[in-house]
Amino acid sequence: MQKMFTVSRKSILLKGTSIPGAEDRQQKIPGFDQGIFSKRRVVCVGAGGIISQVAPTLARKGVGGITLLDDDVVEASNLNRQRFYIKDIGQNKALALAENLLPECIAETEICSHPFRLEEVIARQIDLTCDVAICGVDNNPARVAASRYFRARGIPVIFTAVNLTGDHGYVFVQGKDGPCIACLFPDIVNDDRYPCPGTPAIADILQAVGSLAVYTVDTLLMDRPRKWNYRRISLADGSQDGSALLPARLHCPIPNHQEK
Ligand SMILES: [Zn+2]
Repeated sequence: MQKMFTVSRKSILLKGTSIPGAEDRQQKIPGFDQGIFSKRRVVCVGAGGIISQVAPTLARKGVGGITLLDDDVVEASNLNRQRFYIKDIGQNKALALAENLLPECIAETEICSHPFRLEEVIARQIDLTCDVAICGVDNNPARVAASRYFRARGIPVIFTAVNLTGDHGYVFVQGKDGPCIACLFPDIVNDDRYPCPGTPAIADILQAVGSLAVYTVDTLLMDRPRKWNYRRISLADGSQDGSALLPARLHCPIPNHQEK
């Protein structure tokens, strides 16, 4: 079945509605500053399993802007874990997620959505200005593209992924400088494989890493503490959990990765 001909390829811009008082409780959290958070933009690379856990929470917290990128189309098999409904099947994921984020908003969050993958957005020179990017894709070519693109612009990127059995996940923070994703996974630059259709996926582990990713956004924008740049989590075995402050690799396969 060829769906591409019926799927919209036009970017959209939506705006949330402010709900006075909705931010009351989180303003009492030490380090959280609504005035700052509601002026910051997060680019979400992907609009599937991980971003479905991240973007609604960013909207609920009243982020200033969310930019969504994805060229994929919603299928029935996504509905167990992604923020889509039966009405969305056959629609572009980035556009459908943008619509579904509107009722999640508590502030005038600007939601900018492009029905393209990151590489195409870059090729089209679409504006990806932001304060933080979150890479929630399922393939290494896009992770490497995100690492290079945002590093060159001095923008931190939060990488997150889960394993195929749905019991492990990690979050890695690539700062403005310091270690990049290829310092953590040097083989990533030579891996041009894409996951097979029908890869196993379940919501619980995605929610676990999604929560860590959303918290990490706060640590990058405001005064909430974080003592790690790499964090891994196991649902079954707490002894497999871990956190570390990883250094840059001496011979990183992404050259000049410490340049801005
Ligand atoms: Zn590196």
